[in-house]
Amino acid sequence: MQTNNLYELWQQLAELHLARANINTLTDMIVCPGWDYCSLANATTHNIAEQIEKQFDDLDYLYDLGEIRLNMSGCINACAHHHTGDIGILGVDKKGEHWYQISIGGNSSDDAKLGKILGKSVPALEVANTIQQIVDVYVDLRASTDNDVESFGQLVERVGIDPFKEKVYG
Ligand code: SF4
Repeated sequence: MQTNNLYELWQQLAELHLARANINTLTDMIVCPGWDYCSLANATTHNIAEQIEKQFDDLDYLYDLGEIRLNMSGCINACAHHHTGDIGILGVDKKGEHWYQISIGGNSSDDAKLGKILGKSVPALEVANTIQQIVDVYVDLRASTDNDVESFGQLVERVGIDPFKEKVYG
């Protein structure tokens, strides 16, 4: 494709809701195929991704949050490397129902580390609300200077998971 067709390409992608400028934000998720397309899955993932996209549909808000990597896997094979997301979501099966275990503080850069599990898994309908609570803690506690704002990962490194745990499970 030549560059003079880019605007037309963008228009076509926008019609398909594939042109959102959310790169490196919370909704720029890595999500495995999950239950809908993978025979090994324990839980659906795409519906949860959609739920999160709807919850976080304000681009100005997403840009203000800065880079938060969210990875979601539909089973413990962890194809989406959820352990290494700032926020990781793992789909689990509980007596035939889909639940979601959330971890925070993972990192896949040179300073790689695994996230820590926040607590008991949450039901499907509560995932986006739970992510919102986690993000609210970040916004409340992040440090900032005139030139810099503490990232989600830096905050988790500084304060640990307890403030997040307290907000989600009270
Ligand atoms: S993590 Fe599990 S559900 Fe997702 S693609 Fe891999 S094997 Fe399938």
